[in-house]
Amino acid sequence: MIPIRMKAALYKTSGQPLELAEVPTPTPGEGEVLVKVAATGVCHSDLHILDGEMIPPPEGFIIGHEVSGWVVEFGPRCENPQGLSPGDPVVVSWIIPCGKCYWCARGQENYCPYAAARMPGLIGLNGGHAEYMTVPETAVFPIPKGVDAYTAAVISCAYGTAHRALREAETGPGTSLVVIGVGGVGLAAVELANALGAYPIVAVDVREPALKKEELGATHTVNASSGDPLSKVREVLPQGADVVYETKPNPDLKLALEAVRRGGTIVVTGLGTSTIEIPANHLVMNGIRVTGSLGYKPRTDIPELLSLVAAGKINPQRLISHRYKPEEINQAYQNLRQGKHHRAIVTWSQ
Ligand SMILES: [Zn+2]
Ligand SMILES: [Zn+2]
Repeated sequence: MIPIRMKAALYKTSGQPLELAEVPTPTPGEGEVLVKVAATGVCHSDLHILDGEMIPPPEGFIIGHEVSGWVVEFGPRCENPQGLSPGDPVVVSWIIPCGKCYWCARGQENYCPYAAARMPGLIGLNGGHAEYMTVPETAVFPIPKGVDAYTAAVISCAYGTAHRALREAETGPGTSLVVIGVGGVGLAAVELANALGAYPIVAVDVREPALKKEELGATHTVNASSGDPLSKVREVLPQGADVVYETKPNPDLKLALEAVRRGGTIVVTGLGTSTIEIPANHLVMNGIRVTGSLGYKPRTDIPELLSLVAAGKINPQRLISHRYKPEEINQAYQNLRQGKHHRAIVTWSQ
């Protein structure tokens, strides 16, 4: 039985807490699927919405873009190419490429302009901080047997973003890596890089608790809040790192530009309002490649990541440090703001 009304956390206006309210349960339209939400991640990108640093959504919008749940029913004109049945656990992607445009045709579906206009929980479509959500059927990916449906939520943002960024920077066996900022995405990057065979993996952060997560695969940690972080990185990597991954919100690349080796790559996924300045001579003389990376390519990256979880190569349960009830959602974002999480999820059904 699908209830007529559901619990949801509604956006009010920037600077205001979310309002937990009862709203009508959505009905899947043409080509859409109704998903019962298991869990939704508490992501830094949500803070950019809550703080008015992105285009403000309308009042009553439901944020939350890192979602897992169960298929409830398909709307009319669905093709269900993955053969999903009601009750099947799925990860919900916030990147929903059209599959037909210039970018999709070139395998750059994370830059699909149609996807940019309909990102559940971010732009255009309601997200997962609710008991149910509807999304285009191409947004859902089956969770393999043996993978926990709740913690799989973090595949669709933290792991997806980290995975794509590492791939864009051609991280593989023996790649030396520095990860600056080990929040949810940074820790996922450390764990994934370890699974890919990168070595050494240096995790840099200003928060000591974040650096206690060596079990996720960092070979060295650097606390940037005291002393000179560059000299600590150089103790491990005298020539600099093959790849520096900057995940911090409001990236500045100051440390990254000094920590990368000549001919190395800096990859950036942290959003924010900062401006990045790079001395032209430093860039050219050292042949440094700097690249941004948005999200992931859902049709290949999500199944691949879910396979890595099923195979025991990565474990979202280790990444998730906090679980909240819907009633605690504003506290969850407050705690994220204060750097208290690795990754946190809100569980929307028991
Ligand atoms: Zn996110
Ligand atoms: Zn497209």
